Formats: sequence, structure tokens, C-alpha cells
Amino acid sequence: MRNLVVELTNRCQLRCRHCFVTSRGEPHDLDLDTLQRFLNGAHAAGFRHVSFTGGECTLHADFSRALQLSVQAGYRVGFVSNGCNFAQVLPQLEPFRHNLSTLTFSLDGSDAITHDRLRGSGSFVQVLRAVSICVVRRLPFTLNTVITSGNCTQLHDIAQLAVSLGAGGLRFGHLISSSVARADSLQLPPADRRRIDDEIRSWAPSFSIPVVLAPGHYTEDLFPCAPLRGLELNLDCQGNIPWCCQLAPVPGHPGASVIGSLRQSSFTELFARLRYMRRKLRRRKRAQWIAGTLCEADLFPCSYCAAHVAGLHLHLPQETSSGEFACSIQIAHSAPVRR
Ligand code: SF4
Ligand code: SF4
Repeated sequence: MRNLVVELTNRCQLRCRHCFVTSRGEPHDLDLDTLQRFLNGAHAAGFRHVSFTGGECTLHADFSRALQLSVQAGYRVGFVSNGCNFAQVLPQLEPFRHNLSTLTFSLDGSDAITHDRLRGSGSFVQVLRAVSICVVRRLPFTLNTVITSGNCTQLHDIAQLAVSLGAGGLRFGHLISSSVARADSLQLPPADRRRIDDEIRSWAPSFSIPVVLAPGHYTEDLFPCAPLRGLELNLDCQGNIPWCCQLAPVPGHPGASVIGSLRQSSFTELFARLRYMRRKLRRRKRAQWIAGTLCEADLFPCSYCAAHVAGLHLHLPQETSSGEFACSIQIAHSAPVRR
């Protein structure tokens, strides 16, 4: 399914050690006129599901109206939350419960000590409280875990906890090239990330729920994620369309991952620009694969994007009459590729 990921706000009650969102300066809530234009433009382009993120998306000043606009525009809606605000926001969900897909809560430890060390005192209990409400109200939910040095020995236990809590699935994601200083000690070396991924793949099938890896893990699939396959589109809380939610911002290149502002340009123009840049990156990576010049680090796909997205802004060609951009990268020959 083609999915929108909308950062409704960068405000949050927590200060998780690995978070790059809450370190981005001034607090912002997405204005709803911009949201409306994004929803309408993307609906015309075939998108039918929207996931709200943040920050803590339920803290948006008019969260209920954001839900309403999405449903009226023809979308099913899900959101990612830390769970702290869930009891308060529940009444706002009720009118839309038949339009809700899955709610996702962040769980970074199998016990309070580990989770709270990463996400703040008392936050583990808040997640358990939120998922308990979901179970009682029959609201489907899944869990997300960010793998760091602070919890990497607990991943199997976290999966067991997810099953016992009644989650519909569990997704593990690595901490991606965070520019946040307080996250430095949480970063795992590439070799450890590969070993952990292999371990997860070995035991994940034994669980009764889907246990999956988010994009960012080592893979020889050159285009493993929804954004690179054209199935995901993002909007940040300042009305910018970014490259994707994983690169916000590209470390060392602040603003480089922003395609443009929906407050200044039309959806059609920005969507065409993003599609052009994604196509250009795909061609470049495929050409490097054929030439045998991709190194191991390039096969961590988000690292490849972090290294190359800034350069894609250079030498953008003229827009054609159809609103597309002519791609200027040519592949020298057509040797077989794995994708
Ligand atoms: S709950 Fe999410 S947005 Fe809030 S501080 Fe933690 S990682 Fe950041
Ligand atoms: S950074 Fe690149 S590889 Fe990672 S999710 Fe985004 S588009 Fe995909």
C-alpha cells in the first residue's frame, strides 16, 4: 500500500537519548492547511494510507482535526506514539476507529530499567498502560524497537514481551547515523549490526507474530525500502517534503534531505522533484553495483542515502512539460543486476 508519513509535530514529552527530532530546535506543529494540500495531492497520486509521527503526534494542537481531514480525504490512518498521552487522546480516536489501521508504540526494552534508561523514567509503564487500553478497546497495535547498545542483548525478550502483550507485530530498526551527541555511545558498529540482524532473522520465524527488520539493515537488495520503491512519501512538521523520515536531517548536511517546502511550491512540483532524485539515486547505485564499486558500507542502504542525497540536489535539470525531470544519469551497459 502507498503510505504517507506525516510528522505532525516535533514536540514531545520525552527526551529519548537517541532522538534526533526533539533536538531540531524550535517546536513546530504542522499547519492543517498544508496537511490538507498534502493529503489531496498525494491522494490524486494514488496514496491511501497516512501514518502520523512526531515528536509525539498526539500532542499536535488539533490532533482530532488532523484525523478528520485525513479520513475525509479518503485515507485510513495509523500513528506512532510513545504511549504517554494515550488515555487522554482516546476519546478523539473513537469517532474514527473504523478508519484506523494500526497504532504503533515504541518499546525499547523488555523491562522498565532498560527502557527507561533509554527513554526516560516512567515511560515503560506508560507504554504498558497504552497497549492495555488497546487490548481492552480492541484497537490493533504493533510495537517498534530501536536497536542500540543499550538494549541489543534483550531483543529476543522484547519479542516475547510483544507477544504476551498482544501486539500484532514487532519491528526492529537500527539507530541511523544520528547526529545527536547523546546517542554516540548507543551506536553499534556495522559488524555488530550485521550479527544482530542475522540473529533476529534466525529466531523471528519462531514467533507467532511478524517480527521484521526496518530499512537500514545490511542487504544486497539495492532498493529495499518503501521510499526507494516509490511507496512512501513524507511531510515534516514545517511543511517540508524530505527525502524520507530516516534522514532528518542528513548529518553534516542540514537541510540537504529536504526536497522543498509545500508552503512555497505545489505538491505536483515537489513530488516530481523527489521522484527525479530517487530515480537518479537508484540509477547511480545500480551503476555502481554493476561496476563493482559498492563497498560494504554502501550496502547499509540508509548510510548510502546519507552519503549521496546531498549531491543529488546539484545540477537538477529543467522540468519537462509533464512536470517530470529528465534523468541525466546513463548506465554504460546492461549487465544483469540482482534487482
Ligand atoms: S518519544 Fe519519539 S519523539 Fe519523543 S523523544 Fe522519544 S524518540 Fe523522540
Ligand atoms: S534513507 Fe534511503 S534506504 Fe533508508 S529508508 Fe530512506 S530512502 Fe530508504
